[in-house]
Amino acid sequence: MKVRFAPSPTGKLHVGNVITALRNWLFVRQHGGTFLLRIDDTDTARSTKAYEDGIRTDLTWLGLTWDEEARQSARFDVYDKARDKLIAMGLLYPCYETAEELDRKRKIALSRKLPPIYDRAALSLSEAEKAAYEAEGRKPHWRFKLSGKRVAWQDLIRGEQTVDTASMSDPVLIRADGAYLYTLPSVVDDVDLGVTHVIRGEDHVTNTGAQAEIFEALTGGTRPEFGHFPLLVGADGETLSKRIGSLSVESLRESGVAPLAVLSLMARIGTSDPIEAVDSLDALIAGFDFAKIGRAPARFDPEDVRRLDAQLLQHASYEVMKPRLSALNCDLGEAFWLAVRGNLSRFDDVTQWADVVRGPITPKIEDGGFIATAADLLPAGPYDENSWSGFTEAVKASTGAKGKALFMPLRQALTGQDHGPEMKLMFMLIGYEKAAARLAGQVA
Ligand code: GLU
Repeated sequence: MKVRFAPSPTGKLHVGNVITALRNWLFVRQHGGTFLLRIDDTDTARSTKAYEDGIRTDLTWLGLTWDEEARQSARFDVYDKARDKLIAMGLLYPCYETAEELDRKRKIALSRKLPPIYDRAALSLSEAEKAAYEAEGRKPHWRFKLSGKRVAWQDLIRGEQTVDTASMSDPVLIRADGAYLYTLPSVVDDVDLGVTHVIRGEDHVTNTGAQAEIFEALTGGTRPEFGHFPLLVGADGETLSKRIGSLSVESLRESGVAPLAVLSLMARIGTSDPIEAVDSLDALIAGFDFAKIGRAPARFDPEDVRRLDAQLLQHASYEVMKPRLSALNCDLGEAFWLAVRGNLSRFDDVTQWADVVRGPITPKIEDGGFIATAADLLPAGPYDENSWSGFTEAVKASTGAKGKALFMPLRQALTGQDHGPEMKLMFMLIGYEKAAARLAGQVA
């Protein structure tokens, strides 16, 4: 089994690319096989090395490892051979219409209530007419001659599919400037590199109709399996806005979310599974099944990434979090992480609790008399698991305060906040010196 992820390095990887990469990756990792990273850089004017490097960085960050790599711009000789073969078979033919002429034909067809498909006028050009166009300086673009039959396949996700090639224009495979459009190189590579399953968004269903015929022409009858999944839409059900649709992996990474938060969402969005954080790639692999992918568009809400990231945080071990804590300069040890993780709705909130532990913070004191009494009862350090209950019992005995009236003013004075992690743990982390200073009303 071999699948491929085939991004064009003409922009940054975005969430829509991640869902494609991930579904291919989970499928092949579940069955055992090869994940090919194919850089679709036939558009040499728009492809850049920086975008290509970015794709590798993003996939690596996500943990979507690849086993093989191919680059389309290094394979033009292979495409030229396929081109020549199709021309010899009479399946690739030169056309000389300009864009304006094609546009006029389309408008005429529409005004006659006919489908605006290419009329194949170029197929009946004589050699003399072609020569006359060439003499005018026109360069041909090349179209693939569709069979006009129905193409059928058993889609891995959509089930039985048919595309009527009679209702489509013969696709342009090569532009007048000689550039290959995506359609032919993709098929040539899938054949040549042995891709067995093509898994992609349903915006490619019509393409598959044409590409299936190109596969058959080039191989004499074999083609890979196809699976097409619904595209992402915005939370309102409309197509993804430009801003969200282009939400880049880079910006997610820089926002500090865990890769597994992104992957959990992308693995489960538009499926029958609930959208919940899954804490390992192995668990995602085990849970993957094409049968779970629904036919309705998958609603993407960036807030879900945050929600899943918080879910993951609340269970994440110190070992796993250490690098992210260091990156924010908040690695205060395992006890600190275990104390605060349950209170984070986003990772960045950890800085607030690191500040409380390290200081300085401004204590919040409303009843100075009560806090002065507490200050007198503060035990000397070092503190252990029992220090907080010993201290609060003493304050309770002395003031008669209990429940919220006892705990809230102490929390406010010691942390400057109304809410937060368990005080038993925070008290140990804050320690005697800072506790004493804060109960004395000092910024510490
Ligand atoms: N480079 C193509 C794209 O990004 C690949 C499509 C495919 O998976 O066949 O649209």
